Amino acid sequence: MNLRIPGPTPCPPEVLAASAKQMINHRGPEFAEMARRIEAGLKQVYATRNNVLVLTTAGTGALESAVVNTLSPGDKVLSVSIGVFGDRFASIASAYGAEVTRLKYEQGTAADPQEVAKALREDADYKALLITHNETSTAVTNPLAETARAIRRSGDERLILVDAISSLSALPLPVDEMDLDVVLSGSQKGWMAPPGLAMASVSERAWRAWEQAKMPRFYFDYGRARDSAASGQTPWTPAVSVYFALDAALQMMLAEGLPAIYQRHERIGAYTRRRLQEIGLELFADPAHASNTVTAVRVPEGMDGSAITRTLREKHAVVIAGGQGALTGKILRVGHMGYVTEADIDGAVEALRVVLTSGTVASKS
Ligand SMILES: *Cc1c(COP(=O)(O)O)cnc(C)c1O
Repeated sequence: MNLRIPGPTPCPPEVLAASAKQMINHRGPEFAEMARRIEAGLKQVYATRNNVLVLTTAGTGALESAVVNTLSPGDKVLSVSIGVFGDRFASIASAYGAEVTRLKYEQGTAADPQEVAKALREDADYKALLITHNETSTAVTNPLAETARAIRRSGDERLILVDAISSLSALPLPVDEMDLDVVLSGSQKGWMAPPGLAMASVSERAWRAWEQAKMPRFYFDYGRARDSAASGQTPWTPAVSVYFALDAALQMMLAEGLPAIYQRHERIGAYTRRRLQEIGLELFADPAHASNTVTAVRVPEGMDGSAITRTLREKHAVVIAGGQGALTGKILRVGHMGYVTEADIDGAVEALRVVLTSGTVASKS
C-alpha cells in the first residue's frame, strides 16, 4: 500500500521493528535513558534551548495544551487561520473561554506577515498570537519567519503559539532564532513514527505565562511534564511503543542530517507539484507558499473526488486524501513528509493518471 495521506505517514522498517519491542517500566532507568535521548534529539530538530515536552496525545491535544498552559479565560487572542487547522486552534481557545479574534485568509493563500504583526500591534490587550506553520488542509506554508520577525522587530513580547504539526521535522523551523514561545508537533507527520505522541517546546516567556494562566488544566499541565522530565519520566503512563519508535526515527533523522532532510522535502515538494501538473492537474495553493510536505490539486471539472480516491485505493493500492471542511470533494491531497522518496510519488502520480484517463471513474452528471 502506498500511503500518501498527510499523516499518519509510513514508517521505516527500523521504526516499526522498534515499536514492536517488549514493554519496559516507564519509571525505570531504561525508559529514563530513552526519554533523555529523545529530548536531546528533539531539541536539535527544534533548534532550541527551551524545554521540549513529550505528551501522549494526538496533535489536537498538543494544541489544547498550548492554550490551557498559557492563557486565562477572558484573555484576548489573535488567531490567524488559512484553513481547517487554523480554525481548530481558534476553536480550542474559544472553548476554554479566550476571547478570540479570527484573522482569516482565503483558502489556498498564506497569511500576510506585516498584516498579522499590525493586527497584533493595534490591540495591546492581545495576550497571544495563534498561528499554523503549515496548513495541511490547503497545502500552504505560512511565512512564519517573516511573521515572527515583523512582530519581534517592534519589541513585541506577546506569546507566539505555533501549530507546526505537519512541518517541524520536515521544514526548517529554528525555534530560538524565530523567538517562538510554544511550538507543537506530532509523531505521525514528518517524524516517521506512528501516531500517539506530540511535542511542545516551551520558552521562558511561556513559562512566565504558565505561572499566571488560569484555564483549567490537569493532564496537560506543562509544569507536571517538566518536573517529571527532570527525572526522565512522564506524569502519566506514556505511549511506550511510540517512544521506542520515535527514538529509532530520531536516530535515523540525525544520521541523515537536518540540512539533508530539509533539502529532500524541498526537492520532493517541487517534484510532486511538477508531476501532478504534468498529468493535467491544477495546483490549489498559491505557488509562492506551496507546502513541501503536502500538495493539493483541484478535482477536475465534472469529476467526483471521492470516486477518484476510492478507485485509487481499490484498484491501485494508493491512498491519498480528499479535502476537508469546505474543500470536501473539491481538492485531492498527496502527502510527502517523513519517509518518502521520488519513487513513492511516481507510483502515486502514475496511478492517478491512469484513474483520471481510463474512464473508470464516472463523472458527476
Ligand atoms: C494533523 C494536524 C493536526 C491534528 O493532529 P491530530 O493528531 O489529528 O489531532 C493539527 N494541525 C495540523 C497542521 C495538522 O497537520
